[in-house]
Amino acid sequence: MSASVALRLPSIDGLLRHPACLPLAERYGREALLASLRQLLDELRSSVLNGQLSAVEISPEVLAGRVGERLAQQQRSQVRRVFNLTGTVLHTNLGRALLPEEAIEAVQMAARYPLNLEFDLASGKRGDRDDLIEGLIRELTGAEAVTVVNNNAAAVLLTLNSLGARKEGIISRGELIEIGGAFRIPDIMARAGVRLHEVGTTNRTHARDYEAAISPRSGLIMRVHASNYSIEGFTARVATAELAELAHRHGLPLLEDLGSGSLLDLTRWGLPAEPTVRQALLDGADIVTFSGDKLLGGPQAGLIVGSKALIAKIKKNPLKRALRVDKLTLAALEAVLGLYRDPDRLAERLPSLRLLTRPQADIFSQASRLQPAMAEVLGESWQVSAVQALGMIGSGSQPVARLPSAALCLRPQVSRRLRGRHLLNLEAALRALPIPVLGRIDDDALWLDLRQLDDEPAWLAQLPLLQVAQ
Ligand SMILES: *Cc1c(COP(=O)(O)O)cnc(C)c1O
Repeated sequence: MSASVALRLPSIDGLLRHPACLPLAERYGREALLASLRQLLDELRSSVLNGQLSAVEISPEVLAGRVGERLAQQQRSQVRRVFNLTGTVLHTNLGRALLPEEAIEAVQMAARYPLNLEFDLASGKRGDRDDLIEGLIRELTGAEAVTVVNNNAAAVLLTLNSLGARKEGIISRGELIEIGGAFRIPDIMARAGVRLHEVGTTNRTHARDYEAAISPRSGLIMRVHASNYSIEGFTARVATAELAELAHRHGLPLLEDLGSGSLLDLTRWGLPAEPTVRQALLDGADIVTFSGDKLLGGPQAGLIVGSKALIAKIKKNPLKRALRVDKLTLAALEAVLGLYRDPDRLAERLPSLRLLTRPQADIFSQASRLQPAMAEVLGESWQVSAVQALGMIGSGSQPVARLPSAALCLRPQVSRRLRGRHLLNLEAALRALPIPVLGRIDDDALWLDLRQLDDEPAWLAQLPLLQVAQ
């Protein structure tokens, strides 16, 4: 008879009272500890019966250690900070814009205390949450009125439904776009109850195409910024001013979905030109919609700005209540908009603009500085070089424009056949770090674009933990 036959798992009660488990109960609570212990013992039972475990392996100390690891794992948040070294600044899957300190403080205040969300402190009467940012938006865009919803997709849905339900929405075929995540203009129109009346062709649409489509069934004309693709070559597009004149001549409103939009002319910072909200309104658009967390650099939100009468109509739609923003968003948005009042300092204070305008030379010198540490950690089998690279704005802003940047380029020094696997292993190892590092694979190399590497000490500190599978 082998000695293992006599082995028995410790009892739950015994374990709960064992000194090795007491700190775990203190830290994670007795309930959680009990559940974890039960689960572990259940898993081990058959191995113990089969004599596959030693006495040490089922000692209270070892079991407590294993349960402690599980509890720590469970307690770890699913929402995790990462290093975005993909080269795409406003990365939709990585949370888009980073908020400035002013907005973070405003969010904390709004989270911690009661506030005048829908309460007019001057009159003591009930207020409207949109009023909290209306003054700023009017000043920054020239709009008469504003309402804010959950995101720009919601802004488009709400606007279409409020102004065009059971009528036809006239739109150029070249603007029937899909924006990632199943947001397609024709589908949104259908859900909004607006009948799509497309005009023109994919590459060319003329004023006469719109004009010919107008009938007593028409409810609105819509124009959509072709955010994530570009049509080049033999193209024609009617200018907003001309389209607005045509719409108004027929008593129709013109909606313009700017997508990202921008409150200021970005060329002043050497960035590609993006239509501004103010210009769209000046050109005659009656309603303009845009995102809060794209080029604006704020929290996720959809801003609907335009004429007082149309905004009033939109606010009366019961869907508005379902799509409205919460207090944290409004607090952050107000703080971000406040920074726009001082454009001269905006690039220092607004993280998205600061990152987008970071000079290539600065990023390159960072890459050169970090190259030795990365090379040392990866060893002989990788070539690590500091190189120039091209990044993107992201979130559908300027899909063809590239941001001159710099990167650590990590190239496996193995036969062509093995390269793919080595790259995937390195990518997985970087993702497994305490603060996961996300880069991009391109041209048989892994690229870490350093434009967004702000917290260099934290990045360096975890490098020695990198363990690449072979
Ligand atoms: C991004 C975008 C949207 C959707 O905006 P979200 O804020 O992501 O909901 C709608 N229309 C256009 C043109 C866009 O670029």
